[in-house]
Amino acid sequence: MINDLKTLELWFVTGSQHLYGEETLKQVDRDSREIAAALDRSREIPVRIVFKPVLTRPDAILALCREANNADYCIGLITWMHTFSPAKMWIGGLKVLSKPFMHLHTQFNRDIPWDSIDMDFMNLNQSAHGGREFGFIGSRLRIDRKVVVGHWSSEEVQRKTGVWSRAAAAWHEWQGTRVARFGDNMREVAVTEGNKVSAQIQFGYSVSGYGVGDLVAIVNAVSDSEIGTLMEEYEELYHVPSETKEGGSLNEALKEAARIEKGMRNFLEEGGFSAFTTTFEDLHGLSQLPGLAVQRLMADGYGFGAEGDWKTAALVRAMKVMAMGLEGGTSFMEDYTYHLHPDGMKVLGAHMLEVCPSISNGKACLEVHPLGIGGKADPARLVFDVASGTGLNASLMDMGNRYRMLVNPCEVVPANAPLPNLPVARVVWEPAPNLEVAAGAWILAGGAHHTGFSMALSAEHLEDFSEIAGIEYLLIDKDTSISSFKKELRWNDLYYHLAKGI
Ligand code: MN
Repeated sequence: MINDLKTLELWFVTGSQHLYGEETLKQVDRDSREIAAALDRSREIPVRIVFKPVLTRPDAILALCREANNADYCIGLITWMHTFSPAKMWIGGLKVLSKPFMHLHTQFNRDIPWDSIDMDFMNLNQSAHGGREFGFIGSRLRIDRKVVVGHWSSEEVQRKTGVWSRAAAAWHEWQGTRVARFGDNMREVAVTEGNKVSAQIQFGYSVSGYGVGDLVAIVNAVSDSEIGTLMEEYEELYHVPSETKEGGSLNEALKEAARIEKGMRNFLEEGGFSAFTTTFEDLHGLSQLPGLAVQRLMADGYGFGAEGDWKTAALVRAMKVMAMGLEGGTSFMEDYTYHLHPDGMKVLGAHMLEVCPSISNGKACLEVHPLGIGGKADPARLVFDVASGTGLNASLMDMGNRYRMLVNPCEVVPANAPLPNLPVARVVWEPAPNLEVAAGAWILAGGAHHTGFSMALSAEHLEDFSEIAGIEYLLIDKDTSISSFKKELRWNDLYYHLAKGI
């Protein structure tokens, strides 16, 4: 489980050839080191950027790609063509490369030295056409990749590189990570289902089901002193009403929630899981639906999906990896209910309990209330609002012949009035371009009611991630119209049907 992006590396790989002589190659080497070092220092890029020797021959390119495949800490390549690098040399390497790469289309010098430019300068600084030769072979090999254009010292180039590096890190996390499923799917629900074998082939993570009894055994083994430690932590971190404190009428319910939290955490740590699901239809032996436990585990970086939703659990985990170190939280979310007043239509997002406190606006309240669904004891949960700002919802669906990522940016806004009778964490947002178009397009795309919600990520993170994953990416934003979106859906159906053959 990744917990520090600085432990990961992108390898900075420069293409050239021997045509220009030793002196030129030495210059290429010096320039490449300088760019790699600058990117490594950039505050926009959260991973290490590591210089690799300039590549001039097919065997060296193949060896580098094999080395990258085998290096656990290498999450991908940044490729740059300082000079012309005949791209047939790259076929062997790119064919076996199992990690993503980003093509940095830059040039060492920013400006043309108009007064002094000669043919030597032109031959040294020919990324303009060297990058095109490299681009051709990427497209000829049908490899999806990000192309970033501009001078390497610019903030925008470094920002885009940083965004892509986060997507590559999340993809790296998915390769071999494990999702635990306590119980199965909520009966009869369609969108949370899917083919777990297809998902493992496409995405690299595995999904393992457990009877809830396996969890109950570990929960029951939690000691009173471990519960006591958690109760102290709760009082420190949250507003705890007196009735839930020691001696209060709801204190036992909170202790039970602490027991479930500690048990779940032990289960996930022992099994090496990075994400998990629960379902309120299968809680035999647990006294209450895990609410507080799920919320706090999410805050510690675990992905989560309710009602057996393993795709959203894995997605939330990927989004949490992408968001590491960024301002703003990331949570499992559900479009719960609408405000359809013509003066400002908005969505109230929440879940029965399971919203991550990383998006909380200040100190959350730790409360125990009855829950109408599930027929269990009253569960503990953190209740909070979310501060205004920019956010997005992302949803991943199994369309039968492919996976579809659907993303919709939104503006988080205040509720129209306080919500004194709503005992769950909630967030109110206005989706882009407006609720009418956003919800219409979302439904036409088959978007799920469950999402990964983030105030740290931009749509570009999800687009880069989808590209690396090789899946369909659909964006609903300020430019979306229903009629054009319908066409995109139809064209994509055709494309993904045909793409298997090309
Ligand atoms: Mn749900």
